[in-house]
Order: sequence, then C-alpha cells, then structure tokens
Amino acid sequence: MPIPHFDPFHVPGGALKRLPLLKAAVAFIAAVCLCLCGLLFLQLEQSRRYDLESARTASANLTRAMAQQAQDTFQQTDLVLTSLADWIESDGFGPALQPRLQKTFARRVQALEQLHGLFLFDKHGHWVITSFEQLHRGPGVADRDYFTFHQQNTALTTHIGPAIRSRQNGDWIIPVSRRLNDQDGNFQGVLLAGIKMSYFDRFFESFSLADQDEMVLALSDGTLLARRPFDEAKIGRSLAEEPVFQHEPYGESVGTATIRSAADGVLRLYDHQHLQAYPLVVTAAMSEQAILAGWHDRAFKSSLIVAVVVLGICLFGWVFVRQVRNSERIEADLRKAQEALELIATHDSLTGLANRRLFERALDIEFGRGARQRSPLSLIMLDIDFFKRYNDTYGHVAGDHCLAEMAKVLKGCCHRKADLAVRYGGEEFAVLLPDTNLQGALALAEQIRRSVIDQHITHAGSPTGYLTVSLGCYAFVPSSLDSIEVFLQRADAALYQAKHSGRNRVAALSMEDGFDTLARSDR
Ligand code: GH3
Ligand code: MG
Ligand code: MG
Repeated sequence: MPIPHFDPFHVPGGALKRLPLLKAAVAFIAAVCLCLCGLLFLQLEQSRRYDLESARTASANLTRAMAQQAQDTFQQTDLVLTSLADWIESDGFGPALQPRLQKTFARRVQALEQLHGLFLFDKHGHWVITSFEQLHRGPGVADRDYFTFHQQNTALTTHIGPAIRSRQNGDWIIPVSRRLNDQDGNFQGVLLAGIKMSYFDRFFESFSLADQDEMVLALSDGTLLARRPFDEAKIGRSLAEEPVFQHEPYGESVGTATIRSAADGVLRLYDHQHLQAYPLVVTAAMSEQAILAGWHDRAFKSSLIVAVVVLGICLFGWVFVRQVRNSERIEADLRKAQEALELIATHDSLTGLANRRLFERALDIEFGRGARQRSPLSLIMLDIDFFKRYNDTYGHVAGDHCLAEMAKVLKGCCHRKADLAVRYGGEEFAVLLPDTNLQGALALAEQIRRSVIDQHITHAGSPTGYLTVSLGCYAFVPSSLDSIEVFLQRADAALYQAKHSGRNRVAALSMEDGFDTLARSDR
C-alpha cells in the first residue's frame, strides 16, 4: 500500500517543477559565448570594410593628385614647345638666330623644374640648338622613335614617347616633341623637350606609402614612364599584359579594382585615371596587407580579449556545473538516507512488515477515503496461539524465526496493493483491507490460518502439535463520526472471541450482526 511520507525536497505545488538548471546553465553559457563571438565577428567585419573603404578613398585622392601633377607638368612643357615652335617656324633657326634661341632654351629650362633640356634637331636629326651651353656632337637622333614619328606624321600635335636615356648626359627623360615645318609645310626638324624622370620620382617619393605600394605613370598603351618604387628594368617596358591593364574598368577614365599582381603575387587595390588632354594614365596601388595591417592588429587584440572572456565564462560555467552536480549528488544521497530513515521509522526490523506508526497513518487515510467513497474497510487481528510456550520450549531465537515466517505468510496472502500487513506488537499482527467487506476479510483470514498450518511448524506446547493462529475480523463502512480506537477494539474483541472459542480459528464481529460473534475453526 503506498503511504505518503514527509519529503524535505518536495516543492509545494506540483506545478512548480524544478527547472533543468544544468541544461539551462550550459545553454545560457553557450548562448553568451556565441553572442560574444558573433559581436566580435560583426565588429571586425565592419571595421575591415571601413578600412578598405578609407583606403579606396585615399587611393582615389592619390590618383587624382598624380593625374593633376602629370597634367600640369606636360601642359607647361607643351606650352613652351608650342611657343618655341611658332617662333622657329616663322623666323627659322639660321646661324644668326641660334645664340638667341639657345639663351631662350636655357631660360625656359631654368624656369620649369621638370625640364631636363630643350633640343632642336634639323631634318636629318642633327643637333642644332640645345638648352645646354655645350652643343652635343654626336651622331644625331635620326634613329630615335620620336624623330621618325614626326618625320612620317605631318600632324603638328605634341608627341609623348617612351622614356629614354638622354644622349646629352645619360639621364632618364620622357621625350615630349613637336614637328617643325618650313614655310612650305615640309619637314624641317624636331623640337624636343626632355622631362626628367626624377621629377616624377621625387613627386612620388613625397607621399608616405608602404613598401609594397606602387605609383605608376604610363602611356595609354601601357608603356611605363615612371614608377615608385623605381625599377630601371621596368622603364620603357609595356605593362599592357599586367592584370591591372587587362582589367575590365581599365578602359574607363577612372576606376578602382582589387587585383593580385602576377609579378609578386601581392593583392593590391588599384586606382587609375586617364589624363584627358594627353595619352597618359596614372595608377596608384596599395597592398591590401598594408591597408589592413592596423585592422589585423586590432582584430588580434579584440580576439584575444574575447577569447580570454569566453575562456573565463567557460571556466565559471565548468565550476558552476560541478557545483550543481555536487549538490545534486548530495541531494540524492540525502534523499536515499531520508528514504532509509523513513523505512526504519515505519517498518519492523525483525519481520519487515509495517509497524504501528505506519499502521496508524494508513488507518487515518483509509478512514477518510472509506467515509468519502462509502466503501467498507476491514481489519484482521492475528495472534499466535500458545506462543509463550513456544518460546519457552524452543527459545527466543526460534520464536523470532517463527515471527519472521508468520510475516512471510501474511505477505504471501495479501495480494492487493492496498492491503497492509502490520506487526502490531509482540506476536500480534494486523492486516488492514481497504475496500473489503466482512466476507472478503473472513476469506483472507481463513486463508492465512490455513497457510500457517501448512507451514507445519512443530509446536509441542500446542494441543494440535503444530503452530496455529487465531484471527479476529471486523468490517464496517466508516463515517466521520467513527473513531479508530473503536475500530481496533472491535477487531481485538473478535480476536478475543476466537481465542476464547478455542484458538486456531477465525472470529468476526460485524455491525450488521449487532456485535454478535461468529466463530469458525477446522476442528
Ligand atoms: P495465547 O494463545 O493466549 O495467545 O497464548 P500466548 O502464550 O501466545 O500468550 P500471549 O499472547 O500473552 O504471549 C505473548 C508471548 O509472545 C510473550 C512473549 O514470550 C512472546 N513474545 C512477544 N514478543 C516476542 C518477540 O519479539 N520475540 C519472541 N521470540 N517472543 C515474543
Ligand atoms: Mg498475544
Ligand atoms: Mg498469543
């Protein structure tokens, strides 16, 4: 029979179930760590995008400055060439005019910082006048590209050629030239202005850039004119095959692209701008590694901080989980101890049957239930016959053994879950039978009596020669007015009646019988 007992760990109000604290804690810690990592990722991604965007703006500004500087440089040179060409074409460059022209050349070169020198060649490519005081006496420039260009093209526009080494002094120069015609429009010679490559190099060097960054001035066809970092081997070479020149938006006047260099494998952010007035293009390239150097540093530090925090949270979580597990283990041990104590407090140690304490608790409950449900409640009281003699004959140890056998018999006969077998005292037992009428109780009592006989426990002190029991039954439908004491007394009275009638029998007392007694035995 399930008997309610005191549970110190029971939470009042069944709905308030204990939360799965461990799972909740682990889920919470995991969620916090995930949130931290997610926030870190978002923040780093945002700052990376910001750094790249800032670099894009800086690169566009740099290209604009380069384009402007190139435009100004070539325009000033162009103006000098045009004015000198006009003068020479109208006045010629006869020997009488040459000293004046030489002085003018020298003054113009002095006035424009970018100019290496001004040169006048006749139609055979021989030196006629230069801005240098000493006229170079060489084989001439008839083999130079710019000379043959003007020789073959009648156009009087300014021509910018690939960088060359000056035959005057060996410096790298960018040739800017014009064709000179005589009065009849025939080829008369070439006027050349050499722009110092170092002029662009100095300008490029004035910007603070990383080692892997690049600045390039090139002809529109990709022929390199000036470059930072300076690499003599690349001067005059065509960049047309470089990925940046092959890139889709390159044809447009301005544009940005991130491209991996085929030469050194470095990923760079390229920005280019074509000059409007001249067939020139400028390109600024910033290595992505240099752009993101600060970001990498910040990312490392932020990740380190988040890793330490996550580690701390995990450590705390681990300690917390251990604590919870420990307290759960302690609680389980306490519950077990409490259950053991409860068992000791409510059961008899010799027979393992319920003791009087549990019996009284059960009586209380069954009285209430019987009254509510109007169902009968029966009680069988049992006493071993001539047990004193048994003890005297066989000793107390054998007596105890006998009591344990009795308990087994009782347990074997109580089939219903609600039936409760009790060691009432000494060698007296009781069986409480909820929802059972007198007929049922009598049948069970008789079954117990026969089972005891069937044990064939020899008892020399008994007239039958073996151990027997007397049983008293009482049954009634309890009401709220009935008392437990009276219930017990009546069952006890029935037992007394069984003893009085000769023992080894079942006696019953029922309300219907008006307290008449009924005695049965197999004798
Ligand atoms: P009756 O047929 O009238 O019941 O005769 P009886 O000898 O059984 O008389 P009574 O019921 O008064 O005897 C009780 C005896 O039961 C006394 C005691 O020796 C014995 N007894 C009580 N408790 C224990 C116990 O725990 N162990 C043992 N071995 N004997 C017990
Ligand atoms: Mg007795
Ligand atoms: Mg007895």
